Amino acid sequence: MTKKKEDVQHCKEFAPTLDEMTLLIEGTPTLQLKVAQILLFSNLRVGEVAHAQSSWMHIGDKQAIHESANYIDIPKPGQVCDCWDCLLQGYLEIQQDLNEGKHPTKWFQEEQKKFYKLKRSFKRHIKNTIKKEKKAGKHIEHSKSWLKRKLHAFLTDKGLDKLNKYQWQPKTDSGKRWVWLLNDEHSNLIKEFFDENTTIGLSRRQIYEKIKSLGHKILKKKVFPHSERSTSAIRISYSGASEATVNNQMGWKTNLAKDYVKSDSKLALVDLKNKMKT
Ligand SMILES: [Zn+2]
Repeated sequence: MTKKKEDVQHCKEFAPTLDEMTLLIEGTPTLQLKVAQILLFSNLRVGEVAHAQSSWMHIGDKQAIHESANYIDIPKPGQVCDCWDCLLQGYLEIQQDLNEGKHPTKWFQEEQKKFYKLKRSFKRHIKNTIKKEKKAGKHIEHSKSWLKRKLHAFLTDKGLDKLNKYQWQPKTDSGKRWVWLLNDEHSNLIKEFFDENTTIGLSRRQIYEKIKSLGHKILKKKVFPHSERSTSAIRISYSGASEATVNNQMGWKTNLAKDYVKSDSKLALVDLKNKMKT
């Protein structure tokens, strides 16, 4: 729990201002990365961005017209996924079941270590396979589906075949929500991208690395996926929306909204000017 609190502090500290956020989105060269950032700025978690499906997007369709607003429908459960983040979640759940639901922090850390060891051993296994093939004079271009098959066989071999059917789902029950898109320009860019693509096509790690480097290039400062989400949390908090609204849109189970409404001095000035007209 304390860790969560620190995360909030950390993210707020690095949150770009609204102007910086505009500069970032405008200065991003590809539609894919523009949309990834718009989704974060629209309150999605980085894991939600990495797992977003075109079917979640309701922009100008029948449902959006019915609700009189565009929105993203983050469902629970999500979809079968074998990215390393989902595999880790699945692995921890399996180990937790085996250990009668006991999960003190230290135990989790140990299990995480075991999982990363497993990941490294899979990577070694793939490296060796490719090396052997090269030695045997084979020049095979390995597709994503080849790697997937190898991963499934590897997990089955380790007695972890349950993981092959692991479903991504929102971090908590509060993660299942409708995120409203009130910015038409952003909605149009999201629609343009997801009309052509079923997913964002980037892992959590890739999104993290790319946003970090964009922040460096465009703003000359540290920016993370979480800090872009923070910019939005701060903005909604200062808009005068209720804490319940902020928590709902951000997908927070506990009330974190309070932490955000104290965090931006410039927005505090706007708020003061509006409310203390003398
Ligand atoms: Zn996944």
